[in-house]
Amino acid sequence: MSSKLKPCPKCGNRDIYFLRPTPFGTPAVWIATISCSCGITFNIHTKDKQEAISAWNKRS
Ligand SMILES: [Zn+2]
Repeated sequence: MSSKLKPCPKCGNRDIYFLRPTPFGTPAVWIATISCSCGITFNIHTKDKQEAISAWNKRS
């Protein structure tokens, strides 16, 4: 199983910033954030890193 992030769909940058799932609030809502320096920010509601990565990859 690949855990690699695809390049940014907008600018092609491969240096993607991945913020691992973090809980917010009570009850906790888990949010992973993947973003690029071109301004794209993608929030994924998941506790699972793999799921966050595949959500990003499907989007591009
Ligand atoms: Zn970009």
